[in-house]
Amino acid sequence: MIVPVNLHKHYEIIEEEGIPISSLFQVPSTPVMEKFIRKYGAPIVSKMPTKTRYFLTNSIKKCRNPSGKLILNYPLDFPECQIIAEKLKDQNLRPWWNKKAVICVCHDVDNNEGAKFAPTIADMDYRYKLPTTFNFLTHDNYSLDSTLLRSLIKRGFEIGLHGYTHDQGFAFRHPKIMRKEIDQALEVLKEVDIVGYRSPALCSSELLFKILSERKFLYDSSLQIASSFYHSVKIPYPYYMGKYDFWELPLMVQDDNYLRDTNTPEKIILNSIRRFINEIIVLNGVFIINMHPHLMAKCQQFYENFIQTIKEFDDVAFATMKEVIKYAQGNINNR
Ligand SMILES: [Zn+2]
Repeated sequence: MIVPVNLHKHYEIIEEEGIPISSLFQVPSTPVMEKFIRKYGAPIVSKMPTKTRYFLTNSIKKCRNPSGKLILNYPLDFPECQIIAEKLKDQNLRPWWNKKAVICVCHDVDNNEGAKFAPTIADMDYRYKLPTTFNFLTHDNYSLDSTLLRSLIKRGFEIGLHGYTHDQGFAFRHPKIMRKEIDQALEVLKEVDIVGYRSPALCSSELLFKILSERKFLYDSSLQIASSFYHSVKIPYPYYMGKYDFWELPLMVQDDNYLRDTNTPEKIILNSIRRFINEIIVLNGVFIINMHPHLMAKCQQFYENFIQTIKEFDDVAFATMKEVIKYAQGNINNR
């Protein structure tokens, strides 16, 4: 097993304590009904008028979470992380650029509204010295602005792939279609050093991971931790998936969980984020949060308050996801 060079101690604890990290990080199998809806329902819904789509999404939301309450798993809710935290208690380790933990903010650009707001959110991130990762679609309802891409790269942002279109059933398509669409997406972005992938709506399958592996991605970030609607990998560390020869960098939480699936007030959201960061510091882990530009466009002041909140922490480093993986591989001077 390849272990992050900066997290030897942590992986030693995982091994000594018999925490089954390889089974936690397996690609989850999707229930038949969900697979069917994603594969056949999502393309129909995506062609419907916005109002109908909004009504349908709201109804699904209510079915999934009838109480509308914010239900999240925090890392230290899991016994596996409690064991690691207990063992790390007196170590005072600083494995991330001499900080206790690392925060990655990413922006999945899902649609035209998101693409329109991407330059503004990049300017805000840059103003606060926040290196972030923008995951783009290449053939959806917005066109990629090459001037924006160049300016993002120049300012130290990372560009990752979010897919060909926002096809929520992408991981279940015919392998020929999947290979063709990933290749065409990479062709469009050939001037950019794309190393990371986040699947639309976190849709994943063994086959998708196999194809990402064939296309030599360095990491995937489609498995997650906090939402109770998806399989949780529980452990907030980069994990090398030997079977595919790439790294998984688990997503902790998304703005969706606070603003789409629930109507959580700002104060509660920011306190929830503080709790995640405090727990990540205890674990010396990685806190990855996805803030969609199309959602943030509607609440710019909230986004600014969010940046100020995460910047309150002195014990954490801020990095792009690619930088985190390179660092875990031992390229510690890559910034
Ligand atoms: Zn998305």
